[in-house]
Amino acid sequence: MGILDEDVARVRASTDIVGLISQYTQLKRVGQRWTGLCPFHAEKTPSFSVNDSEGLYHCFGCKASGDAITFVREIEHLDFVGAVELLAARTGITLRYSDREEHEGRRRQARLLELVDRAADWYHERLRTSPDAGAARRYLRDRGFDADEVARYRLGWAPDDWDQLVRSLGAKAEDLEAAGLGFTNRAGRLQDFFRARILFPIDDERGRPIGFGGRKLPGTEGAKYQNSRDNVLYNKSKALYGLDRSKAGIVQANEVVVCEGYTDVIGFERAGVDRAVATCGTALTEDHLRSLKRFSRRVVLAYDADEAGQAAAERVYAWEQVHEISVFVVDLPPGADPDELARSEPERLRSAVTDARPFLSFRVERVMGAADLDSPEGRARAADATLAVVAEHPDALVRDQYVMDLADRCRVPADQMRGRLEQVRRSPRPAPTDGRSSRRREEPEAAPQPTHRLPELPDGVESEALRLRIHHPEVATGVLDASMFRHPTAVAAYRALDRWGSPAEVVDHVPPEVAETVARLAVEPLEVDPTDVLARFVSEVGRRTLGELEAEARSSSDPLAFVEVVSWLKVTLDHMRRPNVDVETLTELVAFIRAETDHSGSGPPPSDTDEEWSEPGSGPSDTGELG
Ligand code: ZN
Repeated sequence: MGILDEDVARVRASTDIVGLISQYTQLKRVGQRWTGLCPFHAEKTPSFSVNDSEGLYHCFGCKASGDAITFVREIEHLDFVGAVELLAARTGITLRYSDREEHEGRRRQARLLELVDRAADWYHERLRTSPDAGAARRYLRDRGFDADEVARYRLGWAPDDWDQLVRSLGAKAEDLEAAGLGFTNRAGRLQDFFRARILFPIDDERGRPIGFGGRKLPGTEGAKYQNSRDNVLYNKSKALYGLDRSKAGIVQANEVVVCEGYTDVIGFERAGVDRAVATCGTALTEDHLRSLKRFSRRVVLAYDADEAGQAAAERVYAWEQVHEISVFVVDLPPGADPDELARSEPERLRSAVTDARPFLSFRVERVMGAADLDSPEGRARAADATLAVVAEHPDALVRDQYVMDLADRCRVPADQMRGRLEQVRRSPRPAPTDGRSSRRREEPEAAPQPTHRLPELPDGVESEALRLRIHHPEVATGVLDASMFRHPTAVAAYRALDRWGSPAEVVDHVPPEVAETVARLAVEPLEVDPTDVLARFVSEVGRRTLGELEAEARSSSDPLAFVEVVSWLKVTLDHMRRPNVDVETLTELVAFIRAETDHSGSGPPPSDTDEEWSEPGSGPSDTGELG
């Protein structure tokens, strides 16, 4: 299931790859290709090449390579379907999906997304211009929002009325309800979902609004925050406010700051920390982490200090182990949230992030900070209290590091501390205080697919022959085949070219190392005569075949049976050494080799790896979108 292959091909063919990449880096024409500074790694001299006619790019520095779809996936951090959808929107192509239900589902989703987008515009316009939004505008001004920010974050105002939005959008009631914009009240009438609130649009990763966070004005009734309810577009345990704007900053700094409020994210941005996201009215979930760890595995919690300190330690350590992330905590001044600190002391907010401590260290220091280390009794109590915290960490080596440090600070012999720690660890754990059930471990994720990476294909006759196949398929086809290659990457690449046709098609279907090889060879033209390449390659295969025949003859009960064929092959190979090989000899040799490899079956094993290669768009979507 996914986007129809022909539509993917249409998107690829209609995308101007030079124009696309030029939005991210400046490209200059050099001969047949375009080059520029690589948008994927920092460099001073260009090692990034684009082949316009094949629609491929390759970086000789960091080895990033692929076609327009790969480029968008990598640079925008999207999955295959997401990247194709983005390019389709860019080129004005309407996509069809292979499954009727999915097709309908996508169409409905597109319709609902458009509705939410129109609602965001409508609310934003109300906030900017409507007389009834005066109090909201004043409130935002007091909180430091200027007109630019109101526009950038597309803030809105939901009027204190029944159904102004749903009436003015003029869509089907069913769609308005499904998109979370309206609901049917007891009288059976459709009513606006949000009323008398300042609205923060919550965008998906691609920057499309999927829901809203609504804040009431001070001194009015109701809960401080009201968010969209879960629906087909919006899921609060997956949604992360600000991720669309912050993902570039997160990748660049290799760190994501997680906070609790929309205004905290904005506060961080104002203070120059462009890598913050907020959960939307819920604690951090495993789904959030799955989404975040694609961008960075260093997760910095910027919650209120008490809350962060009490975050369920077991869950944090389980996440660290299962998801291979590291959790840090920002030490904020008591009672301060990032939003306020950004306005009063932006410098302090920045350094608090820089000084974030590992989760365990943060908790230990909170205990130590409250301890009386001047008296022997105080130090003993501190030792006990910190050991209880250290005991929760699953890694013995980590525990021991902390024990040694604490022994020193509490003036207790290290061995005695260790003995005490073991006691604590053996004794039953106190029930968790946050009321959540105490699960030892989160369910581990499905085991990753076994990855046997193919080795890199070195420059040589095989890479040249492959380049020939890419740039002059008319010369190679019918002469070469995959079984003539030895290097596993070359074999895989050749098979893929046979199966998928164009190099651009290949790179979307094969493992990354094969895709990289194909892209690398495709961006550099073949600079020698195709016949020479063919002759060198075929001679090499011929010499190999000769060696095999001679070995076979030695171990055969009838070595004389090989004499004729071996001597013919030797003479022919001698012929091949001459300059300007005649095509007839070449053709004869090829025919001979093909017959040999066919009947002896000594070529590389048949491809059973094709099945393992993923089809584009199949497999679970990892964008956190509904399917
Ligand atoms: Zn690069």
